[in-house]
Amino acid sequence: MAKVQNPTTTTLGYALFATRWLQAPLYFGLVAAQGVYVYKFFKELWTLILMCVSGHATETYVMLAVLKLVDVVMIANLLIMVIVGGYETFVSRIGLQGHRDQPEWLSHVNSNVLKVKLATAIVGISSVHLLQMFVDVHHTSHHALLWGTVIHMAFIASAAILAYMSGPMVAHTDRAHADRSPATPAAQAARPQEHERQQEKPDPETPAAAPALPRQSDADADAEARIRAAGFPARKLLEDFDEQHPRGFDREAVARLGKADFVTARRNVVFVGPPGTGKTHLAVALGVRACQAGHRVLFATAAEWAARLADARAAGRLDAELTALDDHPLLIVDEVGYTPLDPATAGLFFQLVAHRYERASLIVTSGRPLGRWDEVFGPSAPALTDRLAHHADLVRLDGDSYRTRRATSTWAD
Ligand code: ADP
Ligand code: MG
Repeated sequence: MAKVQNPTTTTLGYALFATRWLQAPLYFGLVAAQGVYVYKFFKELWTLILMCVSGHATETYVMLAVLKLVDVVMIANLLIMVIVGGYETFVSRIGLQGHRDQPEWLSHVNSNVLKVKLATAIVGISSVHLLQMFVDVHHTSHHALLWGTVIHMAFIASAAILAYMSGPMVAHTDRAHADRSPATPAAQAARPQEHERQQEKPDPETPAAAPALPRQSDADADAEARIRAAGFPARKLLEDFDEQHPRGFDREAVARLGKADFVTARRNVVFVGPPGTGKTHLAVALGVRACQAGHRVLFATAAEWAARLADARAAGRLDAELTALDDHPLLIVDEVGYTPLDPATAGLFFQLVAHRYERASLIVTSGRPLGRWDEVFGPSAPALTDRLAHHADLVRLDGDSYRTRRATSTWAD
């Protein structure tokens, strides 16, 4: 399960990666430029007001002045896009998830999205310029008008090309989404067999089995590889979860979590409830969805995580291990709280939760409500649960064990 990494290359890579901070001052420079535009805006506005008050403003003048103001605002918008988007993409995450003013595009920002946004912003600015020329057509030379139009067309064409080129990427993401959403009845009916087949260890000696498998697209194959690498104890799906069984649970929350957005938002999920109510089932099911959404996931029980982290600490590389785990946006810690932990192990869990706080997601399942975690983690419980639950969905499952229910109904039959 542990990833073998050469410490020298890792350190070199990290050192190179750290140089991204050299870019940070550039963005603050752009903030200063933003200030210049604010100054320019108010200067123009003041002139416009003075002209109107003194009665010197013709209709064309007002229109031109307003267009100029719009122009300044659009350039300022462009600047903020480059500052925030660029910083988030190339320097460091700002962590705006959940902020009420988070721009809609920032949640899926990448250099591709940014390029298209910038190109469309430039088209907007150039259309304002063109409009200014047309409004003031008597004072614009034929030459300037012609070139203005040609350049505007060139901007439109390049924006269209950029948007077209980012299309295949979007299609790729959409395909992953389609895999996650409940499929057609036929596809759903086909799914369980597919899982059974995949759950059995594929036998390389039986080539006859190969042609029977549907041809998987690259995205499917990638998702499948991530699911296998995640180390789930069994493949459990949201579609197979009987919503009638747990006496009480927040169906809507679970359905929402099934979209796997909590991973992108670096939020946590905590399932709490008595044994057999489906905590592990739901944790695995969300893990599978996350894999299908393109995230790497790692599943282990609390005891296994404790052993893994204790090994790393014994080898003096706990920090490196926690950092290496960052390339899994979702870790699942199953069965927290079966037995009380010694202070050293509790400390390891605290480190794990604190390290991933606002950086990457955790799904934790436990038979004990958070309020009783002091029985497991001792004095580090409040600090640990505080960080874990700060950006988290808490799902309580109530009811009888699904295991005994099944046994009872089989017996009754
Ligand atoms: P817990 O982790 O809460 O102890 P599990 O998730 O391990 O419970 O559930 C025990 C077994 O019962 C698993 O095989 C699981 O797939 C199944 N199960 C539990 N709840 C449901 C449910 N609501 N619908 C379908 N299967 C369920
Ligand atoms: Mg369980």
